[in-house]
Amino acid sequence: MPVSRTGRKTGAREPSPRGPPVEYNGGVPTRRAAAPAGFADALLLGRRRRPPPPLPPAPSPELKRLLPRLERFLAGVDGDAIDRSDRVPPRVAAGLTTLGAFRLRVPRAHGGLGLSRVDFHRAVALVAARSAGLAMGLTTQALAVELLERAGTAAQRAEILPRLAAGELAAFAMTEAEAGADVSRTAAAARRAGGGWRLDGRKVWIANGPVARWVFVFARAPGGVTAFLVDARAPGFSVERRCRFLGLRGMENGVLRLKGVFVPDARRLGGEGDGLRLGLGAMTLARLSGAARALGIARECLRISREWSRTRRVGGRPLARDASAAERLARLEAVVAGLSAVGERTAAWADAGREVRFESALAKLFCGAAAFEAADLALSLRGARGYETADSQRGRGEAPEPVERLLRDARGLRVIEGSEDILRSALARRIMELEGERGNPAAAAYARADEAARRFAEECARR
Ligand SMILES: Cc1cc2nc3c(=O)[nH]c(=O)nc-3n(C[C@H](O)[C@H](O)[C@H](O)COP(=O)(O)OP(=O)(O)OC[C@H]3O[C@@H](n4cnc5c(N)ncnc54)[C@H](O)[C@@H]3O)c2cc1C
Repeated sequence: MPVSRTGRKTGAREPSPRGPPVEYNGGVPTRRAAAPAGFADALLLGRRRRPPPPLPPAPSPELKRLLPRLERFLAGVDGDAIDRSDRVPPRVAAGLTTLGAFRLRVPRAHGGLGLSRVDFHRAVALVAARSAGLAMGLTTQALAVELLERAGTAAQRAEILPRLAAGELAAFAMTEAEAGADVSRTAAAARRAGGGWRLDGRKVWIANGPVARWVFVFARAPGGVTAFLVDARAPGFSVERRCRFLGLRGMENGVLRLKGVFVPDARRLGGEGDGLRLGLGAMTLARLSGAARALGIARECLRISREWSRTRRVGGRPLARDASAAERLARLEAVVAGLSAVGERTAAWADAGREVRFESALAKLFCGAAAFEAADLALSLRGARGYETADSQRGRGEAPEPVERLLRDARGLRVIEGSEDILRSALARRIMELEGERGNPAAAAYARADEAARRFAEECARR
């Protein structure tokens, strides 16, 4: 992301966490290489000897209690109906709330289930296998919890977290039409007004936006971009329209308008000018839930492909006996294993309090591409049925399988929470920083970033 931790404008460039040191050599300023700080850095440099990634812990008792109930509930959720109508039925939303799906990451002290990131990852993957759009609601809620946990005051946490645990939804509103990848161009404005602030602006593509009670809005104050917790019932706040996408249907997502919305001082998150650092820090962790959605999609592709390859007969024998189909199935198995290992291990790092800025970028880059590859492999195995919508299969009297929907959902993962090109750019720049180079990354640096993401998955899956 093209903003510094201090929120300075930096164009399209992602800065070093510490800022690259500059030294003087015979009067000519040269850039000293940044010191490699972790596993991702070693991979980006192509080093062989690296500290091994930690193994994820076994599921907690809370997750063990939740999973069978969640699985039973999801068995009754019709992902195709959600996709068709682009709406989550009220019965499903209410059922998920009762199960505690919107309070998975809220600490127990505030009425939540207090799941670790690893356990959250496991639960989200289950939901995403049924409906990736539905899973977006859960992960957006968890992003808000993450922000409050990291930057909220004790009073803010005590006020808002129990409300989120009780089922009120939250949204994260950073993007604007002219401030997409380059969020340093944030134009929403915050001006001082007796005892607080007045916010004006327009935020686009905000997940949970149309239904959220609490919206984290990033707006430009005199001291820089700042985060505010906005009550969606405040006068001047409105949902301008709902957005629709190629996939991830059922997700509530919209354009939010703020016209002189008053926000008391007590609802400012962090200091004035801290907004981009806080928002992008939370986004680092949001990328891990993208990995969980990717795993859910890919697992579903594998389930469908295994069953189909076993039962479909081609040339007088099961499809699975054909060498080409067997190769595709084996690749699909490997992709799912890689997704599972990458997501859980990166989440375990984050749970251990490790800085995972570049690890999460590598994970997201791998997971987005891997989920799409999984859906593409499943589509090839299912042939015409893979390309046909589930409704059309059902209409012809066959048991439907939603590979076409899974492909559309998987594509979205390569766009949101840092598009793959933005991630490649950030990783390529990190390589340059580690090697003491400046300028824009060349194609070779992008290729090295791709290679690092591939090896990241191999390393995680191997041990
Ligand atoms: C389904 C969905 C849900 C979303 N949910 C939210 C949400 O809840 N909250 C929120 O704030 N936003 C949300 N977004 C917005 C999303 O995060 C943006 O798409 C993202 O910020 C990029 O903005 P943009 O598409 O305008 O990209 P642009 O700035 O127009 O860039 C276009 C493309 O150019 C490339 N590019 C841009 N910069 C670079 C670079 N430095 N290096 C290399 N390539 C680059 C990338 O491929 C990028 O995708 C959502 C979007 C979608 C589609």
